[in-house]
This record gives sequence, C-alpha cells and structure tokens, in this order.
Amino acid sequence: MADTAAGLAYAGPENITAYASERSWIMNPVGEKEIRGSFVNCSKGEARRINLPRDLPEFPWADLDFLGWRDPGALDRGYLVAERGGELVGVTLRLSPEVRRSFTKSTVCSICVTAHSGTGVALFTAPRVGASGRQGNTVGTYICADLACSLYVRGKKKTDLGMQFETLTAEERIVRTVANLEAFLDKVAEDTLSSTMA
Ligand SMILES: [Zn+2]
Repeated sequence: MADTAAGLAYAGPENITAYASERSWIMNPVGEKEIRGSFVNCSKGEARRINLPRDLPEFPWADLDFLGWRDPGALDRGYLVAERGGELVGVTLRLSPEVRRSFTKSTVCSICVTAHSGTGVALFTAPRVGASGRQGNTVGTYICADLACSLYVRGKKKTDLGMQFETLTAEERIVRTVANLEAFLDKVAEDTLSSTMA
C-alpha cells in the first residue's frame, strides 16, 4: 500500500507503530456549532436541521475515534463526525432498505470489524460530496447500527455475541478502525459519478 497525501497508509500490524505515531486517536470534545459546520455531503440548510445526540455533553470523548449517532427524530438517518488533519469532517448517512442478513458480511462492521448478530450491523449509504452526491451517487458500507465502533474496539460496549476479537490488541483494533474510517471518508469525498460499496 502506498503512502497517501494524507500521510502514511495503514498496511496492517507491521507498520502500526509508524502509522499510529502520525495520528492522535482521541477526539476532542466538540459543540453543536462545530458539528453542524462540519458536514461535507449535505446542504447547509440540512446541516442546520440535523438532530444532534441528546446526550452530547456526556459523550465519552476520550474513548471516541469519531462521533457517531442515529438521528433521534428520524431513525433511517445516521451521522458520523471525525477529526482529520485537525479539521472536523461530518458525513450524513441513510439506512439502506436493502437487507442482506443471510450474507456473512452483513454481520461484521466494515469500519471496526466487530461481529454482530441480527440487526447489530446495518447497511448505510452516504451521498458523495459535490455535484456527484446531488445527482444521487452514494457510497454504501456496513457499520455497527448504533455507530458506536469506538466503544466496541475498546471493549467498553459488548455485542450480544460477546467479545469476538482476534488476537489484535486494543491499539491495533483502534488503528484498523481509523484506517477503515479514513478509507470510507476518502470514498465519500471523491466527486465521481458512480455509486459504490466501500
Ligand atoms: Zn463498527
């Protein structure tokens, strides 16, 4: 895997130390104004109307790689806000009506690789940025339905399957989660005219 403009690419456990040294994992607490101003794939008007999590001040910031929540007023919507290079990047997500529960893939989160049973993982689609997104082009990916990946990889939240992790350490899981998240955000940021699965 080549180095990217954004920095060293995560290439697996062998370069975890170099990869981790370039990044700080902990998310700084952010407020409503910063969150609303961070969205890259919706209009300013839509960003103003987004329902923020009700328990925002009590969020466990020190355990978050990104802020993720389901819309308390519109259950088919979710949001993900991450820090990249010192800037906040927010992405709106739609729950896809597509159901593929018979596939093994649908039980594993593509971001944090946590295994869930049943509806613990959901297929979300994110409109791409810019003109491409306005034409309906999206990026789809399976993510923990509660968008609490950060807590699962740290063992702070458990699925109904219990702990299913491989032999990776918590730090390795966090690095992998951030790498997968960055790859997803890169795809959303591509102003291209195709809809893909991340
Ligand atoms: Zn996850």
